[in-house]
Amino acid sequence: MRPPPPEWLIQHGLSRMNVDAVHTEECWTAAASGRCRPATRQQAIEALRRQVPACVHCRPDTALGILD
Ligand SMILES: [Zn+2]
Repeated sequence: MRPPPPEWLIQHGLSRMNVDAVHTEECWTAAASGRCRPATRQQAIEALRRQVPACVHCRPDTALGILD
């Protein structure tokens, strides 16, 4: 059994300590950044709760159902 592909991506900044944005897996800006790591749904939600910006192109906050 192969693991399912990640549904979420977390984009890191130039420093690994920085987190720049949360994306859904099909976001082209995430692919273009080259700095994204796969994340679980839980990790994506947690990042957004920690004020990590949701990408304005793929709207992971909407996909996760946690719009304010
Ligand atoms: Zn995105």
